[in-house]
Amino acid sequence: MDIQKIGVVGAGQMGNGIAHVLAVAGYDVVLNDISQDGLDKAIALIDKNLNRQVSREKISQADKDASMARISTTLKLSELGDCDLIIEAATEQENVKAAIFAELLPHLKPTTILTSNTSSISITRLASRTDRPEKFMGFHFMNPVPVMKLVELIRGIATDAETYDACLAVVERLGKTAASAEDFPAFIVNRILMPMINEAVYTLYEGVGNVESIDSSLRLGANHPMGPLELADFIGLDTCLAIMNVLHDGLADTKYRPCPLLTKYVEAGWLGRKTQRGFYDYRGETPVPTR
Ligand code: NAD
Repeated sequence: MDIQKIGVVGAGQMGNGIAHVLAVAGYDVVLNDISQDGLDKAIALIDKNLNRQVSREKISQADKDASMARISTTLKLSELGDCDLIIEAATEQENVKAAIFAELLPHLKPTTILTSNTSSISITRLASRTDRPEKFMGFHFMNPVPVMKLVELIRGIATDAETYDACLAVVERLGKTAASAEDFPAFIVNRILMPMINEAVYTLYEGVGNVESIDSSLRLGANHPMGPLELADFIGLDTCLAIMNVLHDGLADTKYRPCPLLTKYVEAGWLGRKTQRGFYDYRGETPVPTR
């Protein structure tokens, strides 16, 4: 199956990174969002990130210009109709994703592969609500997409081998490594990572440590490049909470219960870097712990 044109739905932190790496690898990309402002910001960010790659001599100016020229943007899902592959990277809410696929379906070629970058939602359930569960799978990039080498490829119960192989070929052309995961809540990376982050929030909630001591403990004591609370802010606390809820509901085990303090931060709208405040306050020169 020859993939040349790829539609990316959602131009947030993940969508813009996905569009960036696809364009650099030579794919034509159509980037969609519900917000024109979101699309404009995504294009500006891709431009900035590509400039950084040019200044570090990772790509040439000509590569950058060609990559930018391969990306088009649209507010209309109907304009993704001639894509060979769709990567949905919209907000982590099942009803949002289901509505996107329902609106897209009438416009697609019968051969178009549908994928979701979801961090945790059941691929099988999303697939079952489309007309092509065998051509549906999880295509899970890590954040920040241009830097992180892994892509989890998740087979739904019905995903066929041709679809999996076509997605694997895309991952390889991006110069990334695929990890094959079965479709159980949060797959591999987040199944392991999120309970650790949630436990770090419990450690804070119970007063065992403060933000600074918890993060430096894991950085210096376990050789993690970022502390768990710093990482949570980077991912987005709403996304972390949504993933914990999926683990809790999907595996029906109380060990996955989200920490009430994580819920509190999300209720406050303190979602991490994207809202300038989370476990750290990013509004000044340097991040300041909020607890
Ligand atoms: P984000 O909030 O930065 O971006 C989401 C984007 O989706 C926004 O621009 C929003 O306007 C857009 N959107 C919402 N409804 C839409 C619709 N109906 N049609 C088109 N666009 C719509 O979120 P994000 O961090 O980029 O996450 C996107 C997806 O990627 C989620 O499924 C998330 O679980 C997954 N993911 C996130 C991370 C991470 O570290 N943040 C890592 C891997 C995967």
